[in-house]
Amino acid sequence: MADGDFNPSRRRLFTRRARDPVRPPWARLARFTELCTRCDKCREACPEGIVARGDGGFPEVDFRLGECSFCHACAEVCPVEGLFAPPQRTPWTIQARIGDGCLTRAGVYCESCRDSCAPRAIQFELALRSVPRPRVDTAACTGCGGCVASCPAGAISIGATSIGEGHG
Ligand code: SF4
Ligand code: SF4
Ligand code: SF4
Repeated sequence: MADGDFNPSRRRLFTRRARDPVRPPWARLARFTELCTRCDKCREACPEGIVARGDGGFPEVDFRLGECSFCHACAEVCPVEGLFAPPQRTPWTIQARIGDGCLTRAGVYCESCRDSCAPRAIQFELALRSVPRPRVDTAACTGCGGCVASCPAGAISIGATSIGEGHG
């Protein structure tokens, strides 16, 4: 293909991020990068230490560092009016996903993630001629991220669900 045939939609395909960043809970996502001043106050306020400085200096939750306790401190300390929703709203719609790297898919016995989940949203189902496999109960999963660091294979990710993209 000649240079003049550059196709921007193909470029987007190649440059698109592998995953969308997880903003702090209750963040209104639609205008987040437009309104956030990158002041770092939410990162400093998080008692769990899970808010990291992400791409462009915008805050992102990194569940490898721990889980969200839904304390609302990040939202309360934010100086930008309206960037976060009040605590009575749903904090986010993200949930745990168990990927193909799960050891049980290779026939290895592992139930590490089960006990890390306080709401008991990870259940193990018996499988014929195989080790029990985990399944996330989407009605119970809060997206807290507590299971992420517990997985020795790094097979658990937290991402958007089909319910929606969180606060607009
Ligand atoms: S709600 Fe609390 S624990 Fe969760 S990211 Fe915000 S400050 Fe951290
Ligand atoms: S901890 Fe990871 S490898 Fe183990 S069962 Fe859970 S998802 Fe699979
Ligand atoms: S994200 Fe939290 S509630 Fe959901 S499965 Fe993991 S530990 Fe359980």
